[in-house]
Parts: sequence; C-alpha cells; structure tokens
Amino acid sequence: MRAIRRGDTGPAVSEIRSILVGLDLLDAASSFDEATSAAVDAFAKAIPGAVDAFDERASAAVDAFDEAVETAVRAFQQSRGIGVDGIVGPETWQALDGARWKLGARTLFHSIPSALVGEDVRALQERLLEMGYDTGRADAIYGPRTARAVAEFQREVGLSPDGSCGPQTMKALRRLGRKVVGGRPQWLREAEAFRQSGPNLVGKTIVIDPGHGGADDLGVVVPEGPLRWTEADLVFDVAARLEGRLAAAGMRVHLTRGPVPAKPMTGAERAALANSLGADLLISLHLDGHENELADGVATYHYGTGNGLTSTVGERLANLVQREIVVRTGMRDCSIHAKTWELLRLTRMPAVRVDLGYLSSPKDRERLVNPLFREQIVEAILAAVQRMYFPVERDVPTGSIDVRQLRLSLAQRS
Ligand SMILES: [Zn+2]
Repeated sequence: MRAIRRGDTGPAVSEIRSILVGLDLLDAASSFDEATSAAVDAFAKAIPGAVDAFDERASAAVDAFDEAVETAVRAFQQSRGIGVDGIVGPETWQALDGARWKLGARTLFHSIPSALVGEDVRALQERLLEMGYDTGRADAIYGPRTARAVAEFQREVGLSPDGSCGPQTMKALRRLGRKVVGGRPQWLREAEAFRQSGPNLVGKTIVIDPGHGGADDLGVVVPEGPLRWTEADLVFDVAARLEGRLAAAGMRVHLTRGPVPAKPMTGAERAALANSLGADLLISLHLDGHENELADGVATYHYGTGNGLTSTVGERLANLVQREIVVRTGMRDCSIHAKTWELLRLTRMPAVRVDLGYLSSPKDRERLVNPLFREQIVEAILAAVQRMYFPVERDVPTGSIDVRQLRLSLAQRS
C-alpha cells in the first residue's frame, strides 16, 4: 500500500480516523455526533440549499489527515513499539487494522503462514497470562505458543484441546476469568513461594547479570581522552564487587558471565542459566546512554505488561533497588518501569534490571568511573536485597541499613 500521511484525504483516511476514535486516541468532535446532525437537519429545514455546502465541508473534515490525526497516529505507533513517524505505512496499517478487533468478535486460531494479529489476540493472551498459562509475551500475534496455552486451558476445563479460541472457549474464559480478577494467581504463587523461602539471606541463591560482554558487545562506549569507558567493563566490576559482598552475607552467588566472555549472550540464555540454577533472585546490571549528554539518572525495570499485569515480587525488588540507590547516591530518580524483555519474561524468579546511570552523561560518568562510588552502589543493592527478605511489617526506612553491620548481625542471629 501507499503510505498515507498528513495532507491526504479520502476514504482510507476516514477509515484510519474511525479506528483512532475507537481507540480513544482521537477526539470524535470533528465528525458528526447526534446533536450536530440534529442541528444540521433543523438548519436544512430553515434554509433549504444552504446545507449542501456545509455537508461538503463537514465531510472533508472527517476525511482529512490533519494535525490531530498525525498526533494520534504517533501516539498509536509509540504504544505499539512501531517507529514513530506519524505516517501510516504498511506496518502501522497492519497494527491499526488489528486494533479494530474486540475479543470474542471472531474465532481465533493458529493460522499458517500468516498469523492472526489483533487487539483481541492481545486481550486473550493477557487473560491467559493472568490465569497462569504461558503464552509468552502478550504480543497480539496468535502464534504456536498462544495456541498451546489455549489448548492447555481447554484440556483443563474439559473442552476439546484444538488450540483455537471459538465461542465455547470464550464462554469458559469469561466464566473462569471472573474468578481470578484481582487474584493474578501466577504472581500470587510467586509471592507465596518467595515468602515461604524464609527471611534469611543465608543459603539463598542470587544471580547477578552484568549486561553485554565480549569483544562484539561492549554496550555503551564513551571515549574520554586516551581512555575509553565501556558499559560491559563497568557493570562487570560492580557485579564482581556485589558477588563478594553477597557471598559474605551468606548467599550463593552466580554471575552470568566472566569479565571477557567468548561470545555475546542473549537475554534468553541469561534467563535459562538463572532458571537452571534455581535462583531465588536475579539482578541485571546495565548503564544507559543517550546522544544528549544532559540525560542522566537511575531506572529499574521489572516484568510487567504495562496494562496492570505485573510480577508483584519483581516490582517490590525494583522499588527497593531503585530507592536505595537514589537515596544513597543522590542520582536522578528515573523511577521503575514494567517491561516484557526476554530476561524479565523468561526468568522464573523475581528479576530486575537496573540501569545505573548514563555513561554518556558527564555528571553520571564522573561518578561511575570512581570505584568508591561503585562501592556505594553495591551497598545500596545489598541493602535492597536484605530488605527483600525482611517481612514487610519489619521493613526499615530506605538508606538506613548499615550493610557493614550485616555480617555481624547475621552471625549474632545464628
Ligand atoms: Zn546495556
């Protein structure tokens, strides 16, 4: 198809407008509502003939790709992870077209070779995820994994497990979906398992994942005079320091990689390693980079879809890590965010990724390259991990744990 952009008019534009209005991204004010058409009818009766010109202008308005439409298209593209250019090309059109479907309006199945895509698929995936079925990411694509999750659901409710979602399956989903509203059993299970593992750090397994690594994947790289700072090396140093401190506190600690791994590791490989170790927690360490050197600060990420589907234990860990670092270092608070990245999605334990400042920011960099400052970050993460294992009612104010005393108090307790 030809890309549709600002200034274009015609039926394709009015189609795009009506989808955007349906998604609440575009105000329907410029198209006729009931009150307006009643007013126009009355006007037509009063002054015959005058209405034709008015009609023409009004219909031009609903056909026009104006500034409001462009803004709505940009917002839509951003929400779907499509390149934001305000132009409706093939990819944006496919996503817009898929956005029209409401769950239950059509039968969903694993179609080969081109998979069904749409908002209804996303809604189905999110519902199945909430109920504890593994559809993978809620990506709005009805692939083999979604079909498998549907078949598993069907088997458990006594329907024939064909992996397609028709009226019968929808009915069962609606009936059972109500029971789990607010329950989110998957995350309740995770929280319960975490609680049952007890308040002590001793014997717990933690995986520290220094991001990137290897000659081909240095992460953010910033040259500074004769020096060259790399994200891969700096986060490895933080990971190695953390390893020592966490081990001293009695935890079993594993790093996902050495200082110079032979080849880059994917998020899935890192998650698989943590799963195979039966880890209780995973913390992934990165630095951020931006072309604007004014960008600075710390952000922490946990698993979640952004639509309220979230790992509660992961969110708690993200909160504690973020707050301890911000309070102890004074770096800018870029807050915590839900993400569906492989590493966070495929790990079976509470997992977070923290971006420990911007290597591209002179302000953050000056501190990050100082080993004493990295030690401060290590202490903050250590305090956050300790607080994860305090019962909520015995939690302490952020910044108040003296991690140097940790070993001592552990020794006294046992
Ligand atoms: Zn990174």
